[in-house]
Amino acid sequence: MIPVEEARRLILSTVSPMPGVRTPLLQALGRVLAEPVDSPHAHPPFDNSAMDGYAVRAEDLALASPHAPVRLSVRSEVAAGWTEPPELAPVTACRIMTGAIMPSGADAVVKVEETRESDGHVTFARGARVGQNVRLRGEDLTAGARVLEPGTLLNAARIGLLAGVGRSHVEVHPAVRVAIVATGDELVEPGSELAPGQIYGSNAYALAGMVLEAGAVPVLMGIARDDRQATLELVERALSCDVVITSGGVSVGAFDHVGETFSRLGSVHFDRVAQQPGKPFTYATLAGKPAFGLPGNPVSAMVAFEYYVRPALLRMMAHPRPDRPTVRSVLTERCSKSPGRTAFLRAVVRREADGYRATLTGPQGSGRMTSMAAANALLVIPAESAAAEAGEAFETLLLGD
Ligand code: AMP
Ligand code: MG
Repeated sequence: MIPVEEARRLILSTVSPMPGVRTPLLQALGRVLAEPVDSPHAHPPFDNSAMDGYAVRAEDLALASPHAPVRLSVRSEVAAGWTEPPELAPVTACRIMTGAIMPSGADAVVKVEETRESDGHVTFARGARVGQNVRLRGEDLTAGARVLEPGTLLNAARIGLLAGVGRSHVEVHPAVRVAIVATGDELVEPGSELAPGQIYGSNAYALAGMVLEAGAVPVLMGIARDDRQATLELVERALSCDVVITSGGVSVGAFDHVGETFSRLGSVHFDRVAQQPGKPFTYATLAGKPAFGLPGNPVSAMVAFEYYVRPALLRMMAHPRPDRPTVRSVLTERCSKSPGRTAFLRAVVRREADGYRATLTGPQGSGRMTSMAAANALLVIPAESAAAEAGEAFETLLLGD
């Protein structure tokens, strides 16, 4: 039996980011960039108007005031997308739309709301500053500028930025494909009737949800019967994915075949961790791929996923923050535990004036799915203590909102 920190360190030391793959831009949302991206062009690529209005020479309006407005003849017009900008003759104005190329000779734009146009002339009651309402070529990005560094998590704004510099594809670390194998003769699919002795297989769904929440792709392999050959065949098929997760069949029962399957197909790093829940937890490398033999009890499987599998998946996807944010929170009630094993308690954590406060989500048995469903945090109680005392503060993993 190894300590939790050692198990976690060992797992993370065996996984590394998957190589970048050229990916259509929108599919790169939520992925991590695997290449540096430079802008091939200046942005904006040409001087253009920031407003609908009139392009002018600022010097032509130098004397304009409400008492002595200046009137210029409107001789030309230019809209966004016109490829040939007009030339601005001295002492005239050009009607211009937002995004249109600046006419040559013009150095300012007056917005339409500040003018009056009639009979082919436009009246200005105020002067204009050189450069006003003009967006200069390259003011956002110069040609050749570094736009994004490798290792950047791509959010919507960054996807937009990549499109804005002309990229239709980018190299990103791909979503990890995670095979999920349930094991157990007692399991039936939700939606069917339960016979005596049967339960609904829920782990595959909880784990697939957690895989999706981590930004990876779950592949549901179905249920392996508690039979040596069936388990071996399903785990072998699961090796078409990047990562294998099994649930159940890792304890010492006569029908637990996962450990043996893993040792036949690869090398097992450990099969017991000093934790509760989830002591029987097997980690192996099969054909160069990480394989997690999670416990069958729903809470144990989910806690082990949180603490070990999630950071490993995020690391394989080169995520800049593979760990959950942690705080220290004060437990409001006592909870006993086994000495020598790190306990993960399910709790609701609230921020209060004097810090974070944690309330347990009811009885902490490893079969209590409800204790996990109500939780927004896991408290980590160190192995050596015999109990978590009310009023004590513990490291707390925040699981989401
Ligand atoms: P095992 O590790 O296979 O002995 O399973 C431990 C406990 O977890 C047993 O009570 C199983 O019925 C339960 N269990 C195993 N797999 C699942 C599953 N996929 N969904 C829900 N409960 C499960
Ligand atoms: Mg079983």
